[in-house]
Amino acid sequence: MTKNEIADALLEIATLLELQGENPFKVRAYQSGARVLEGIEEAELARLVAEGKLRSVKGIGEALAEKISTLHTIGRLPFAEKLRAAVGPGLVELLEVPGLGPKKIRALHDKLGVDSVAALAAACTAGQVAELEGFGAKTQEKLLAGVRNREAYGRRHLWWDAAELAGAILAGLRALPAVRRAEAAGSLRRGLETVGDLDFIVAAEEPAPVVAWFVAQPGVREVTAHGDTKASVRFGSGLQADLRLVPAEQFAFTLHHFTGSKEHNVQLRQRALARGWSLSEWGLTAVRGTDSPPPPVAAEEDLFRALGLAYIPPELREGRGEIEAAERGELPRLITAGDTRGAFHNHTAASDGRNTLAEMAAAAGALGWEYLGIADHSKSSFQARGLHEDRLLAQVAEIRALNASGRCPVRLLAGTECDILPDGGLDFADEILARLDYVVVSVHSAFGQDEATMTARIVRALEHPHTTMLGHLTGRLLLRREGYAVDVGRVIDAAVANGVVIELNASPWRLDLDWRHWRRAAERGLLCAINPDAHDTAGLEHVGAGVNAARKGWLAPEQVITTWPLARIEEWLDRRQERPRA
Ligand SMILES: [Zn+2]
Ligand SMILES: [Zn+2]
Repeated sequence: MTKNEIADALLEIATLLELQGENPFKVRAYQSGARVLEGIEEAELARLVAEGKLRSVKGIGEALAEKISTLHTIGRLPFAEKLRAAVGPGLVELLEVPGLGPKKIRALHDKLGVDSVAALAAACTAGQVAELEGFGAKTQEKLLAGVRNREAYGRRHLWWDAAELAGAILAGLRALPAVRRAEAAGSLRRGLETVGDLDFIVAAEEPAPVVAWFVAQPGVREVTAHGDTKASVRFGSGLQADLRLVPAEQFAFTLHHFTGSKEHNVQLRQRALARGWSLSEWGLTAVRGTDSPPPPVAAEEDLFRALGLAYIPPELREGRGEIEAAERGELPRLITAGDTRGAFHNHTAASDGRNTLAEMAAAAGALGWEYLGIADHSKSSFQARGLHEDRLLAQVAEIRALNASGRCPVRLLAGTECDILPDGGLDFADEILARLDYVVVSVHSAFGQDEATMTARIVRALEHPHTTMLGHLTGRLLLRREGYAVDVGRVIDAAVANGVVIELNASPWRLDLDWRHWRRAAERGLLCAINPDAHDTAGLEHVGAGVNAARKGWLAPEQVITTWPLARIEEWLDRRQERPRA
């Protein structure tokens, strides 16, 4: 196992022990062991394990050293497996209900016998939870809402997770000898932030072997439909996938139809009708009485051309003006993943990240980036181990030294993800902020403020002369919690007025600011930064999800500063430092 996987395993043990009501010191030993691991380089860990010297690391005792060593060498731990079985899946599932931690779950279990999400819902409905010490009517109401949200959210999946599964299925389909063309359609292809189910459109010489492969894929839990040219399966994650086989000459039409959206398709059908043709998933045919037959269509490009349109990328097919723009030849040259040259909002093990500066820099270099901005949490985010002034300045010195060493594969930029305090002030004094290359400001507290207070708070932070960009504007977590109440339009106005960038947080759980706002905001002059908010090296790749959302927001590379070359970024940051201060 890698060090992050081992750290995950230790954290899971800590949670399981807590659910069991174990003594807090034991729980904390595992939690801090995970923290210690995150600060060690991967190669160093391998050496310590091989030489049996894990115990020489401060914070790792004998019991922990043994478990880490087992996980590192054999990748599993019988102790954890027994613990998991003893605690049971019901209590672990309860952790997914917002507002419930191990202590509360323990109390619900011991006093009310709650051992599953369903049992929690029943106890809430019966009013028993409100009676419990430390809970109350308000908590009961919140928990019940959490359970209901979970049911509603349960039918959708993050685009990132769905895309991973779809990629594997597509690769499998395309490798079959009978398959001529295969694509995923639906909201996945349109790059929507969450996906209901997967649709695969396949043109094949012979359908039977394709259907047979599809229903027998690894990971399929249930086959819900199995026909000659169609099949539906459900995977362990609950995600459903539908397969549709069509003749090759029909492929473009079926793919277009099942890509949607409905709004886009309705407009396109009307456009076809105006030309005397009927458009459907099966083809383009002349309506009776029309004298001009439709041209042949082999690909989606041909279909759009037949209707007098430039090719419309799937991400734009939302019925939000793309057909009009395609008719005028005014579709933007959309940003692509390959345009990325760096990112500003990333964490290291100094706060709540899981890799060292050097590891993050190496990973950014491997992606071909020119620069990587480090923005660890500020002191008020104590739950995320935010940095106090002395540790922040030490990190700045470390970054400057790494850049000077000539051994860093990318240019590191020293920043902070500075808390916006409840009154709109920033978490660091000006003289500290002045020592940084840039400042990301974010809300991490007092989510319950009313819209006017929250909006004024964020606007005040944007007016701060040291603010470079705003992090995750609404604070939403997809399929988990809605954003706080905030007037997005007023925040965008303030950002434009103060020359502040708004980030498109590329974490697949956030994608905040939402793509639906970007087209208009960018037209008003707002600049975007696509930031992965990476908490480990793998997290840098989430930029792909952000680029996807940016494409849905009609953004061109020029409007996204993370596509600019390093020299331009440095010049831009210098100019910002010198601008007159209000
Ligand atoms: Zn944040
Ligand atoms: Zn962050």
